[in-house]
Amino acid sequence: MKKSIPVRKNEEITVRFEDLTHDGAGVAKIDGFPVFVRRALPGETGKIKIIKTQKNYAIGKLVELNDKSPYRVEIPREDSHKYGGCQLEHMTYEGQLKYKENQVRQVLTRIGKLEDVVVYPVLGMEEPWHYRNKAQVPVGEKDGKLIAGFFKQRSHEIVDTDESLIQLPEVNEAIKAVKDICSELGIAPYNEETHKGVLRHIMARYGKETGELMVVLITRTLELPHKNELIEEITVRLPKVKSIVHNVNSMRTNVIMGPETTVIWGNEFIYDTIGDVKFAISALSFYQVNPDQTKVLYDKALEYTGLTGGETVIDAYCGIGTISLFLAQKAGLVFGVEVVPQAIEDAKRNAELNGIMNAEFEAGEAEVVIPKWYKEGNKADVLVVDPPRKGCDEALLQTIINMKPKKVVYVSCNPGTLARDLRILEDGGYKTIEVQPVDMFPQTTHVECVSWLSFIGI
Ligand code: SAH
Repeated sequence: MKKSIPVRKNEEITVRFEDLTHDGAGVAKIDGFPVFVRRALPGETGKIKIIKTQKNYAIGKLVELNDKSPYRVEIPREDSHKYGGCQLEHMTYEGQLKYKENQVRQVLTRIGKLEDVVVYPVLGMEEPWHYRNKAQVPVGEKDGKLIAGFFKQRSHEIVDTDESLIQLPEVNEAIKAVKDICSELGIAPYNEETHKGVLRHIMARYGKETGELMVVLITRTLELPHKNELIEEITVRLPKVKSIVHNVNSMRTNVIMGPETTVIWGNEFIYDTIGDVKFAISALSFYQVNPDQTKVLYDKALEYTGLTGGETVIDAYCGIGTISLFLAQKAGLVFGVEVVPQAIEDAKRNAELNGIMNAEFEAGEAEVVIPKWYKEGNKADVLVVDPPRKGCDEALLQTIINMKPKKVVYVSCNPGTLARDLRILEDGGYKTIEVQPVDMFPQTTHVECVSWLSFIGI
């Protein structure tokens, strides 16, 4: 029998919200049929208007809220909901941390079938605002004026913004200054539709510990107009700037950076430190965006490795060597693997910069390089993985199972793929001892986890 959809488009109904989805929308059920509503919280009741119906669910819009959740807070800025990104800003920080903890536990049980796994409360920030050390904002035009800010949710319309509440003040200040300068110099904003104009994005990155700022101008054109005046004004108005970079992206694409990068003033790198380790960061390097919580995350990873000094460690997905070098301070020898060759060059430079002699790096896919090492007779006592959202490749997981390092420390930015991979490792003889979520991205639904697995045999 075909199940009928119990709601119609434009219908207004009063509902009670029971749950939150993984992207932070409230869930109400109408005769068992789920309706997703942004900015609604579990326990709340309110009037909604149905804006879209699908076979298995509908989407509604909040019209009026009746009973409010104790976790609800006023959103900090009336217009902030336009920007997307901060999906949980209508929730108290305590509520956000609880939500993330539940999310991790539910996914590990549902996808990973890890019934008795220990999940700790999320390690959050004391002050969950103004944490991001990097911003890259799209540039456009409105009423003949250069604007820069955020894309409106699910659209390519740019909302002109001077301040983001989750970026460090230095980053906001840099973006605003560069925007003003470009506007004053009459640099033509890029137009996505016609693929004309010059300036596509402004990027700013700040080393919170060192106070060093990098500005990157991304243009469609090979030439950067008013280059000298731009440099002059940026250095005058932003005294913390240590590096100004020009990147050319002449393609019709959503990818921000193009293939050509030139340092037009100052250094190729800015520096930052995590704990006692110093890192050189170039315009294209991947570097964690929440420096305070990165330290919390890496400290936890280090604790879970249980290093005493003589161990051999493999750090798969090592980026510019951040975790590898952090662990090298306590390990015998660390091997890092990373697919981006440029990042491996950065990692080697970072090892040198810190006088760290017991870390080696190789460029390549973790699922190819680590099996090769294993074949050559190289084994690790501890293996750390920190993969992108899609998780670890099966071939890598299989090699871990064959190699049997005593411990695996899994750093993950996606609980779904973490759960899938933990299940595979458990079936191969590992036991997940603990999972510690860390809040790297307050106000958003993202959650990072560090997990510790021990080999116990099958
Ligand atoms: N551990 C680092 C980087 C983590 S991000 C840090 O904390 O800073 C994940 C990294 O995995 C990225 O640098 C990405 O380039 C890399 N990567 C993606 N697929 C990979 C693969 N198949 N093999 C090795 N590295 C990969």
